[in-house]
Amino acid sequence: MKILKNISLKTYNTFGIDVLAKQFVEVSTLDELTEILTLYPDFFILGGGSNMLLTKPIEKLVVKLNLKGIEESPSTTDDNSVFVSAFAGENWHDFVLWCLNKNYGGLENLSLIPGSVGACPIQNIGAYGVEVKDTITYVEALDLKTSKVVSFSNANCQFGYRDSIFKTSSKDKYIILKVTFRLTTKQHQLNLDYGAIKSELGSAINPSLSQISKAIIKIRSSKLPDPKDIGNSGSFFKNPVISNQLFKTLLKDYPNMPSYNMGGGKVKIPAGWLIEQCGFKGKRFGDAGVHSKQALVLVNYGKATGSEILQLAQLIESTVKNTFNIDLQTEVNIFS
Ligand SMILES: Cc1cc2nc3c(=O)[nH]c(=O)nc-3n(C[C@H](O)[C@H](O)[C@H](O)COP(=O)(O)OP(=O)(O)OC[C@H]3O[C@@H](n4cnc5c(N)ncnc54)[C@H](O)[C@@H]3O)c2cc1C
Repeated sequence: MKILKNISLKTYNTFGIDVLAKQFVEVSTLDELTEILTLYPDFFILGGGSNMLLTKPIEKLVVKLNLKGIEESPSTTDDNSVFVSAFAGENWHDFVLWCLNKNYGGLENLSLIPGSVGACPIQNIGAYGVEVKDTITYVEALDLKTSKVVSFSNANCQFGYRDSIFKTSSKDKYIILKVTFRLTTKQHQLNLDYGAIKSELGSAINPSLSQISKAIIKIRSSKLPDPKDIGNSGSFFKNPVISNQLFKTLLKDYPNMPSYNMGGGKVKIPAGWLIEQCGFKGKRFGDAGVHSKQALVLVNYGKATGSEILQLAQLIESTVKNTFNIDLQTEVNIFS
């Protein structure tokens, strides 16, 4: 393992923020990981860098997880299931393609989400009516207190909307090493009701998993900026969940406010709509901006610093609060 000094993380985060890592190492095995953590107890885990905003140089050792491998075993109780385990350093979309190539169903709607397999449970990645919690059976992780590998069942992960135990009570206590999914082999349960999937599929009556994946890739590519062209971290904020009471009050002034009834007296409001109503869509402040097609995505047009993006995020938060009395929460992990 080679420890590099003072390297730029610009190409390691999809926002394209140019900050220095004082020390940087790539690890490919569990042994390498445990060895390095013994030597450097103060570290920063980096997956694909697609859900982080870096606002200053990183003094800790940056550990890029490159643990690779995919294993499968058929279910012994159910002839329509297969268990597939992937190591943390596998690229998420490549893993989805691997599953599609085998005609294993369950992850097709999550095509083209950037990042690594290891990070997928952390915020319970989701898109087009599917969340990764629907297929995860368990997560293996290194317990940083005991240095032992432990296993979390789906229930123990405490998954929620863009949330899990790894983002809340167990934040920074584990390094996820491997994730196991239960996928379908024959009778696939397709989720086609969300957004424009059906219209993109056109006349396909019984679409294949690959056709669904291609449709989703096409829709996503037309709506979201590609980090290779414009730096971004996808949705910057979560969609806020508000009380029915506040929703009813707001409807008087904003009768067209879109909403999704969550039950239990709660309503989810698209954060992108709120941001757009506040006039931020397409706005640019130097090289930091709000994407012109999707107000939920903050972008780096080239040389924005993490602090400039953060300032813009804070301006959006306070404007939304003053306008709607709604608190926005960031989906992106901010390191400041
Ligand atoms: C264009 C674009 C579109 C996106 N679309 C979606 C979408 O549709 N749905 C969605 O849910 N998300 C989406 N995202 C967000 C992002 O893709 C996911 O959050 C992804 O899971 C992040 O993976 P990563 O490996 O890049 O994580 P990183 O950004 O590297 O890390 C995120 C956090 O997890 C920690 N971490 C990473 N790996 C591990 C590990 N193995 N063990 C412990 N901690 C770890 C890091 O320290 C950091 O705190 C999008 C992002 C972009 C840029």
